[in-house]
Amino acid sequence: MSVFSHVEFDQHERVVYGYDKRSGLKAIIAIHDSRLGPALGGCRMWPYGSDEEALRDVLRLSRGMTYKSALAKLPLGGGKAVIIGDPRTDKSEALFHAMGDFVESLGGRYITAADSGTGVAEMRLMSERTRHVGGAEQREAFGGGLREGDPSPSTAYGVFIGLQVAVAHRLGRHDLKGLKVAIQGVGQVGFGLARHLKDAGAELWVSDIQESNVHRAVDELGATAVGQQDIYGLDVDVFAPCAMGGILNPQTLEALRAPVIAGAANNQLADARLAEELQRDGRLYAPDYAINAGGIIDVCYERTGGSTEALKAHIEGIGDTLAQIFQRADAEGRTTAAVADQLARERLKAGR
Ligand code: NAD
Repeated sequence: MSVFSHVEFDQHERVVYGYDKRSGLKAIIAIHDSRLGPALGGCRMWPYGSDEEALRDVLRLSRGMTYKSALAKLPLGGGKAVIIGDPRTDKSEALFHAMGDFVESLGGRYITAADSGTGVAEMRLMSERTRHVGGAEQREAFGGGLREGDPSPSTAYGVFIGLQVAVAHRLGRHDLKGLKVAIQGVGQVGFGLARHLKDAGAELWVSDIQESNVHRAVDELGATAVGQQDIYGLDVDVFAPCAMGGILNPQTLEALRAPVIAGAANNQLADARLAEELQRDGRLYAPDYAINAGGIIDVCYERTGGSTEALKAHIEGIGDTLAQIFQRADAEGRTTAAVADQLARERLKAGR
């Protein structure tokens, strides 16, 4: 397996393999681009079927972080880590201490954070071995009081801001009262988004593979529960994917009726070319890494010690970035996804 000729290599600066015999740690850290600052990106734990699968994932994700941070105007580069293991059965204190040592060995060139399969508990274990960890400490919440280091409330707030900009652009609506929104996945981010929307007067439809999450949205927010497959075909204004990637694919696009797609999930487009199909159909797609940047902005502010007000204002800047993407896409007749990539590259170049 060659890294340099890998289809996802894209001139990564470093790709480092970590192994610890005692804990059984097998991990890869990839640093894609550190020209704007240290590479920040989550640590994913997943039972990859092969080392090749893990390598592909870490390379793809770390490149995505370079673009996400550049677009969010953060002094950060792009990186990512993957631990090969099952988060349901393979977690241990020793494993995350060893992972902390691995992160520390890069001397701050890579800063880790939570991702699929890891959370605040694992960040705390790693922070016993390295200070290059985000999301391990308690933070001040927007509304006052303290919250855990988990950045998902910031992600949810950013998606809420971005969704409003998308609705204003595509539907000409500036008031969310009565806006119909279908949310796929009401976990940490999806539920937070649902709460913001409910407070703004929107009507909600939700699906989730975990019944308890659906019940919470129905009981606490008055949402309507729908089946997993029925979420796509609803006659709603907005489809908000907040579960898994690859959700915009030929099958779902055929069923989808919403004119606006704005949600938190990473890598929503199963294939980059589908952005053109969305554009042809007159659907406005809010590029995933532009709208879901609230979490990375949160982790950055935790590290630099910025105030809660400044953090909130920075997250609200997601709305300005999206407005710029939408206007430029219209003016140039290009897809919003292509314009987001272009804007990220321009910001990378300018920020260097
Ligand atoms: P989460 O695990 O808390 O929530 C995801 C929810 O989706 C869960 O409730 C899960 O049961 C549900 N789900 C899974 N498959 C589903 C399906 N087929 N249909 C319906 N529901 C399904 O995760 P999260 O932290 O809320 O993240 C949601 C998405 O946003 C992920 O794609 C994540 O990568 C992305 N994201 C999260 C953050 C963050 O700060 N947490 C930041 C950026 C991007």
